[in-house]
Amino acid sequence: MTARNIDGNALAAQVREELARRAAELTAAGVQPCLAVILVGEDPASAVYVRNKVAACEKAGFRSLRFAFPADVAPEVVFGKLAELNADASVHGILVQLPLPPQFDADQVLEAISPEKDVDGFHAENFGLLLQGRKSFYPCTPWGVMKMLDSENVPIKGAEAVVIGRSNIVGKPMAVMLLARGATVTVCHSQTKDLAFHTRRADIVVAAVGRANFLTGDMIKPGAVVIDVGINRGADGKLCGDVDFASAREVASLITPVPGGVGPMTITMLLANTVESAQRALDARRSV
Ligand code: NAD
Repeated sequence: MTARNIDGNALAAQVREELARRAAELTAAGVQPCLAVILVGEDPASAVYVRNKVAACEKAGFRSLRFAFPADVAPEVVFGKLAELNADASVHGILVQLPLPPQFDADQVLEAISPEKDVDGFHAENFGLLLQGRKSFYPCTPWGVMKMLDSENVPIKGAEAVVIGRSNIVGKPMAVMLLARGATVTVCHSQTKDLAFHTRRADIVVAAVGRANFLTGDMIKPGAVVIDVGINRGADGKLCGDVDFASAREVASLITPVPGGVGPMTITMLLANTVESAQRALDARRSV
C-alpha cells in the first residue's frame, strides 16, 4: 500500500478563505480581528514563525501588531506590554512566541495573557476547560490535526490512537482531543518501554517528538493514519518530520508530509481562534 498525502497547504488555504470572509464581515460590523504577537530575542526560527503569523493575519484581512524586545529585556517590560494588550478592547488575540530567554518563567508569561485573548490555547484556564470538555480556545497544532483527520473523514470514535510526545502544547492536548472524540488513546513518551508495541496497534498515530525520521514503517500498522507534527532538520539540512516518510508511506493509508502538512494548519487555527475571539467581542458588544 502507498499512502495518500493529507495536503495541509490545500486544507489551510480552504479554511483561511472562509476565515477571511468572516473577518471581512466582522470588520464591516466594526470589529476587525486583531492579533498581537510578542517576540523576545533574536532566535531565527522564532523570527520566521512570527513573520509567517503576521503575514497570514494580514492576508486574511486582520489587523496585526508585532512587538519585538531584545533578549536581555527585563521581564517587567514584557508583563507591562501584556497588561496593556489585555486592557485594549481592539486586540482579540495575544501570543508570546516561545521559547523565551532564561530570565523568563514561560508559564508565568502565558498565565499573564488574559484567557479571553489566549488564542494559542496555552493558558491553564483554557487547558482546564479543554480537559473538562468545555468551550475554550483549543491549542492550534492539535486542533489543526483534528481538522486534518476530519477533512479525510477518518473514523475517530472507537479508534486506537497513539500520541507520541506529552508536551503541554502538542502531545497532552492532542490526547485529550482524541479522547473527547471517542478514541482509545495511548500516550507514549521518552520513558515508554516498548514504543513499537503501542504504535503497531494504532489506527491513528500522531508523532510529536522532535527527532528526525524517528517513526519508521516497521512500527506502523498496515493501513494506519500517520500524522507527523515534528519539524526537524535532517542530516542533509532539509526540513523533515518525526516520521520516516519513505518507509511509512509504504504501510500507512494516509500520511501528512513535512513540510506542507500540520505546519500550515497550526497557523490557520491561530487565525480561527482570533476570529472566534473577535466574534465573542462583537456578541458581547451587541448584548449590552
Ligand atoms: P517537546 O520537546 O516539548 O516534547 C517532545 C516529546 O517527545 C516529549 O514529551 C518526550 O517525552 C517525547 N520523546 C522524546 N524522546 C522520545 C522517545 N525516544 N520515545 C518516545 N517519546 C519521546 O516538543 P513539542 O513542543 O511537543 O514538539 C514536538 C515536535 O513538534 C518538535 O519537532 C516541534 O518542532 C514540532 N512542532 C510542530 C508544530 C507544527 O506546527 N507543525 C507545532 C509545535 C511543535
